[in-house]
Amino acid sequence: MKFDEFGFNTQLLEGINAIGYESATPIQQQTIPIIMNGSDLMGSAQTGTGKTAAFLLPVINNIIASPPDNFIKALVIVPTRELAVQIDQQMEGFSYFTPVSSVAIYGGTDGASFEREKQSLIDGADVVICTPGRMIAHLNQGYADFSHLKFLILDEADRMLDMGFFDDLMKIIQHLPAKRQNLLFAATMPREIKQLAQKILVNPLEISLSVSKPAEKILQIAYCVHDAQKIPLTVHTLKSDKLRCVLIFCSTKSSTKQVSRELKQTGLKVAEIHSDLDQKTREQVLLDFRNRNIHVLVATDILSRGIDVEDIDLVINYDVPHDGEDYIHRIGRTARAESDGVAITFINQKEQQKFAEIEKLLGEEVYKGIVPSQFGQGPEYAPTKKYHNPARSHSNRPKQKRKY
Ligand code: AMP
Repeated sequence: MKFDEFGFNTQLLEGINAIGYESATPIQQQTIPIIMNGSDLMGSAQTGTGKTAAFLLPVINNIIASPPDNFIKALVIVPTRELAVQIDQQMEGFSYFTPVSSVAIYGGTDGASFEREKQSLIDGADVVICTPGRMIAHLNQGYADFSHLKFLILDEADRMLDMGFFDDLMKIIQHLPAKRQNLLFAATMPREIKQLAQKILVNPLEISLSVSKPAEKILQIAYCVHDAQKIPLTVHTLKSDKLRCVLIFCSTKSSTKQVSRELKQTGLKVAEIHSDLDQKTREQVLLDFRNRNIHVLVATDILSRGIDVEDIDLVINYDVPHDGEDYIHRIGRTARAESDGVAITFINQKEQQKFAEIEKLLGEEVYKGIVPSQFGQGPEYAPTKKYHNPARSHSNRPKQKRKY
């Protein structure tokens, strides 16, 4: 679906064009019409699905259509400074040819940045993107006027709850008018999120990237990447999503060890498990993982069958599993019992054909996420194209006769 089919303002379309988006992602196709219709929305979506544009574009479009004034019209609340900056940058790109203004409010240690944020709130930026704690600091001073707010957006709401922001969110919401449109996005939908949604949303429509086999509750997403993009993307995912219990599967012992080593350097609580460890050590590692002393476990397929660790939030297939059976077993570690889960698979060029065969077994395509632009472009998904492996050069094979 092309962006001009949504009925967007032409200045907004110019911005989308300038950024280089050609067609809407599935979450955008589903979400944008709902938001433009005025409904509340609860969306489950990961980074890479295009969820930021899914909520920013209809909001910007709505603001362009309303008479200009100096009131804050949309409030986006996010868990981290990094996400606030990232959303504000996208906002600037989309609104470049429009009169819509925005400000990111996420703190910093110097008084100058607080003063700048304060001034933008007093001036009434159209869209305010904030972290909860910093917004409370401004609200306590009494100059932020949300009386004309139309949109409240909670992004990565599951992570905000994880970080203990529930009370802050409720405090901020007390300052908002009762009549407003609410949008809530989360990567996973645990019970707490549903409870939060009940408090905030009014008759919301629910959107999630369609997932069927093997378990309906698993949100599956795959990224086509170059090998060098895997670690940065893993760190980004681990830092930007809920992080209580993550399993990363690698196909070999050596990559298990390497990934574990690299992730440890980022300060995450990481351990590895593979057949080089003796039974006693393996049991201890699993116990630490079950008790949440370790948050990220990097494993070979040793773990993909049979071992029951409850409430795994995320499974990452760092390499494409050998076959469909392994894929189903690996991702089946998440979304057990009551909880929803997410499974991410990295596919490098060499593994595309193998992944296509897994999709054939699943009977459907797994949604391909877009690698966030700061990590560079990934390869396109073209599994039928033969990957040229220089190690298997043609020179030592019998030459084929050309057909004329
Ligand atoms: P998000 O899921 O919002 O974090 O977006 C992930 C990446 O996808 C970002 O780099 C976006 O700029 C990019 N993106 C979002 N929507 C589209 C689209 N329709 N076409 C191309 N890239 C997109």
